[in-house]
Amino acid sequence: MSEEKSLNFIEEIVEEDLRNGKYEKILTRFPPEPNGFLHIGHAKSICLNFGLAQKYNGATNLRFDDTNPSTEETEYVDSIKEDLKWLGFNWINEFYASDYFDQLYQFAVKLIQKGLAYVDDSSSDKIALEKGTPTEVGKENEFRNRSIEENISLFEQMKNGAFKDGEKVLRAKIDMLSINMLMRDPIIYRIKHAHHHRTGDKWCIYPMYDFAHGQSDSIEKITHSICTLEFIPHRSLYDWFIEHLEIFPSKQYEFARLNMTYTVMSKRKLLQLVNEGHVSGWDDPRMPTISGLRRKGYTPSSIRTFCDKIGVAKRDNLIDISLLEFCIKDELNATASRLMAVLNPLKLIIDNYEENRTEELITENLPNDPENTRTVTFSKELWIEQEDFMEVPVKKWFRLAPGMMVRLKSAYIVKCESFKKDESGNVTEIHCSYIPESKSGNDTSGIKVKGTIHWLNAKDAQKAEVRLYNRLFKVENPAMEEGDFKDFINPDSLQIIKRAYIEPNLPNAKAGAHFQFIRNGYFCIDRDSKPGAIVFNRTVSLKDSFKVGEK
Ligand code: ATP
Ligand code: MG
Repeated sequence: MSEEKSLNFIEEIVEEDLRNGKYEKILTRFPPEPNGFLHIGHAKSICLNFGLAQKYNGATNLRFDDTNPSTEETEYVDSIKEDLKWLGFNWINEFYASDYFDQLYQFAVKLIQKGLAYVDDSSSDKIALEKGTPTEVGKENEFRNRSIEENISLFEQMKNGAFKDGEKVLRAKIDMLSINMLMRDPIIYRIKHAHHHRTGDKWCIYPMYDFAHGQSDSIEKITHSICTLEFIPHRSLYDWFIEHLEIFPSKQYEFARLNMTYTVMSKRKLLQLVNEGHVSGWDDPRMPTISGLRRKGYTPSSIRTFCDKIGVAKRDNLIDISLLEFCIKDELNATASRLMAVLNPLKLIIDNYEENRTEELITENLPNDPENTRTVTFSKELWIEQEDFMEVPVKKWFRLAPGMMVRLKSAYIVKCESFKKDESGNVTEIHCSYIPESKSGNDTSGIKVKGTIHWLNAKDAQKAEVRLYNRLFKVENPAMEEGDFKDFINPDSLQIIKRAYIEPNLPNAKAGAHFQFIRNGYFCIDRDSKPGAIVFNRTVSLKDSFKVGEK
C-alpha cells in the first residue's frame, strides 16, 4: 500500500500547471510586512510556500512588503530573516516592495495614460460615502472624468510634495457599480509625508497594498502567489491590474489562515502585549511568535511537523494548541536527555545510611538506550518533591507516606519511618530506612513496590531557577470574545520557582539545551542563565494539566 499523503489543493493546482506546461518551474514568495515578529501562523505560510518550491524543484523569494512607512522597522526585518533561517528555509532572493517604488509609479502613470486612473480631491469621508455599501451601488464623482493630461500633472505634483497628507489620492477607474466593493474605483496611491526605513524621504506618496502586492509578484514573475482567505475579494483587483498593465500573469490562491486556541495571532495584538508589558518582549516564551517558541524550547522540526499535520485548508478553523504541544513532546521524548530535578524540595534523610558514605549510581539518559548512561551520586540526605509525600495518603497512593515504601529511581527502596513539621504545620523533613539489598540493577530483596520517585543528593544538587509557563489566555479564542482581548489574559501564565534543584554536571549545559525533568516535563536552558545561576524554561509538561509528582 502506498504511504503517500494525498495532495493538498494547492499542490493539485501546481501539478496541473506543471503537467500542462503552463510553467517550467514554479516560483513562490513569502511576503511579510516588517511590522512585527513572525508568529506560528506565518510559519504555516512559510512551510507552504517554501515546501511547494522544495517539492516541485522551484524557488521561493523573500519579499518584505514594506509599502507602509509608518509601522515598519529594520529590527523587524532582521528578526524575520533570523527566524526564517532558524526554521530551516533558504530564500533565492531577498527583495523589498520599496525597491519597486519607481516601477510602481510608472505603472500608475501607465494606467492614467490609458484613462484608467484619476486623481480625486475628495476627503476620505466623501470617498467612503460615495463608495456605497454591499447592498447599495457607489456613485461616480466630478473628479472621475478629469483629462489624462490633468491627471498626469496632478499625480506628478503629488509625487513632488505639492500637497498635504490626505489632500488628494490616485484611484483606479474601474466600476462604481461593481458588486465587489473593492472594484469601486479603489485608491491606489495616497500622500503620506513620512520617513521610510529604506527609501528615507524620497517619497511622499505610497502605493496601497492592492497596487503593490500583485505588481511585485508580477515583477518577480511569481507563478503561485499564496495568501489567506480574506484576500479572496482582492483577487479580481489583482487580476485587473495585471491585465491592464499587461504584465506577467502571476496568479493568487487563497488558503485558511492558522488560528490557534488560547492565543492571539495578529501582529497588532501581539504588539499591544509587548508595548503594554503583559509579556517581557516579542520572544517571551508565552508568545506564539517563532522567537518565543524557540526560547520556550521548541525546535524547528517540531514546528515544521506541526505545520505539516494541520495541512492546508480552504475553510477557517481553530487549531487546538495541544497539537503543537504534542509535536514537541513527541520529538523531545526521543531526543531529550533525562534529568532528575526537584522543583519543590523536601528533605529526605535515610537514618540507616552511613553519614559520610557516597555511592555513584548509574542511570539512563534515554529510555530504550541502555548504553547511554550517566552517573548520579547518592548519600544520606536527599531532596525529593514535596508532592511525593502525603501525611495522610489518599486511596491508591503509591508514593511516600508514613509506613509506605517506594523505589528511589536508579537507587534503593526506602520506607518512610517518621516526619517532622514546623510550627505552621508544614512537613519539613522525612526520615526513612533503606533496604540495602534493593539496589537497582542488583535487587535481591524480593520486595515489590508500586511507586518510583526521583530524588537528588542534597550534598551536590545544584540550585536553579525554573520558569513554568501556562497558557497566555484563559479562554479558547480571546480575539472572538466581546470587549478587550486583554481582559482574558491568564494571570497565572508564569510561575517562577527560584529555588529548585537539579543534578550537578549537566552535559552540554548551554542556552537552548533540552532536557526531560523526569516525571515532570521538558525544559530548556534560558539565555538568562549565568555561571552558577542556571535558568530553565518549561517547554511543555508531560501531562496536559500539570501537577508535580502525579503518576
Ligand atoms: P497579521 O494579521 O498577524 O499582522 P499579516 O497577514 O498582516 O498578519 P504579513 O506579514 O502580511 O502579516 O504576512 C505575511 C504572510 O504570512 C502573508 O502571506 C500572510 O497571508 C501569511 N500569514 C499571516 N498570518 C497568517 C496565519 N495566521 N496563518 C497563515 N498564514 C498567515
Ligand atoms: Mg499583511
